[in-house]
Amino acid sequence: MVSSTGQQFIAGKRRPGTSGTRHSVVNPATGEVVDSDILAGPEDVHEAVASARAAFHDWSKATPSERSLALIRLADLLEDRSEEFARAESDSGGKPIRLTREFDVPGTIDNVRFFAGAARNPEGRAAAEYSGDHTSYVRREPVGVVGSIAPWNYPLQMAAWKVLPAIAAGNTVVLKPSELTPLTAVMFAEAAQEAGIPDGVINVVTGSGTIAGQALVTHPDIAMVSFTGSTAVGRRIAEQAAGMVKRVHLELGGKAPFVVFDDADLDAASRGAVAGALINAGQDCTAATRAYVQRPLYDAFVQRVAALMDDVRLGPVDDPATDMGSLITFNQRDRVAAMVEAARAAGATVVRGGRSPGGTLERGAYYEPTLITGAAQNSPVVQQEIFGPVLVCIPFDSDDEALRLANDTPYGLAASAWTRSVLRAGRASREIQAGCVWINDHIPMASEMPHGGYKASGFGKDMSAYAFEEYTNIKHVMTDITGVPRKAWHDVVFTSH
Ligand code: NAD
Repeated sequence: MVSSTGQQFIAGKRRPGTSGTRHSVVNPATGEVVDSDILAGPEDVHEAVASARAAFHDWSKATPSERSLALIRLADLLEDRSEEFARAESDSGGKPIRLTREFDVPGTIDNVRFFAGAARNPEGRAAAEYSGDHTSYVRREPVGVVGSIAPWNYPLQMAAWKVLPAIAAGNTVVLKPSELTPLTAVMFAEAAQEAGIPDGVINVVTGSGTIAGQALVTHPDIAMVSFTGSTAVGRRIAEQAAGMVKRVHLELGGKAPFVVFDDADLDAASRGAVAGALINAGQDCTAATRAYVQRPLYDAFVQRVAALMDDVRLGPVDDPATDMGSLITFNQRDRVAAMVEAARAAGATVVRGGRSPGGTLERGAYYEPTLITGAAQNSPVVQQEIFGPVLVCIPFDSDDEALRLANDTPYGLAASAWTRSVLRAGRASREIQAGCVWINDHIPMASEMPHGGYKASGFGKDMSAYAFEEYTNIKHVMTDITGVPRKAWHDVVFTSH
């Protein structure tokens, strides 16, 4: 066990929380305790918000180039410490080291570099004399202290997605990571300090959602709440923020459809389905969860996906040969298993998986790659987020039917369409209601492009210049350029000489 130096990072200092509740960070792949600390209580949140408030004055007035330079230094520091971050992310999340080395950490560094550039590129309309007598221009100003709340599935990337656009735009932040996976969020804040980002600009409070999360959302000095997590919690946060007229940014759950038309490359689609469904053991808000396959390809697709799943290696997360790690907790594993069992009881066929592996993996929260057929469109495995390595396959006959089924859940985060036809690709990308539609792929992202949802998957964008804009207020400045005391428009109000 790493001896904890505290999971709170407030005003530039790492320390334990004051709630009195001790919490252990457990490697879910082994059951070993990785770290243990006292969680944050309302007092810690209060202190962190005060620290962010105090830092706002100077940080919001730092030049774009100063903010950008600090982020460039941060990216370099993270690069130097890639391995340390990859290991901490793997140990606390049960993620295979190959994934954290090749996806989580480099993705985060790329994001830091992108926002270093974005800090110097605030966008807006051209200044001009729109009224004729005034020069109008737009100022893009930071919102204030942002309360950010992140989930456990990609702890480092989620911390980065929340913090970077906010601080690039001149805001200061109090971040609450999931108490299950706080390690890399605190390490990220420490690295930012070392890179020259002033104390108080990034604060981390590690605590439970119901105590620290709630204290953050309802704090009067939090100007904006940026949340990534489940739709249920997002809804509650939106209700509370509405009462206080706070800006909210919500990145919520997903249930991505994966539509395979009969002209698709079967091998590409099958491989894409396995990678898209099993990345991070399926604990990915954009994971492929519902494969709709046109009937002529359906049997071959199911067979091919099943065969590829047979080859997926579950194993110790520190082994670079391991493809899939464990789920985040035994509770999460049991929840996934219960959904699969309910589908089986309702008449679906579990073609592969549907159980936990035995042997040496028994002490971890592992669950086998699982393929289900014969589930009804309105059943919970098709409608609800499972957040585990489970893919459901359903056949379809016509393009109209496929697009209707793809849109037939409350979610709308991501989707993919597999076809060689430019017409079908165009129609799918237009008609699928989701924040991202991939054509002939599923999962890749780019820091330059937005990530965010439609429907119950929330609103607001992470990554890209759109995210930068979300963390700004727009102010219109209108300057008289005539110098005339008696202006023509005054006569509309009063005509006295
Ligand atoms: P969760 O909603 O349970 O928790 C997310 C965060 O909110 C955690 O830090 C938690 O402590 C906090 N929280 C919980 N209750 C709270 C409350 N009442 N007030 C304030 N904060 C509270 O989600 P999770 O289980 O950590 O993560 C999985 C979910 O996140 C999935 O639904 C997944 O789809 C979603 N997710 C979405 C995206 C996206 O970009 N749309 C990305 C990653 C994960």
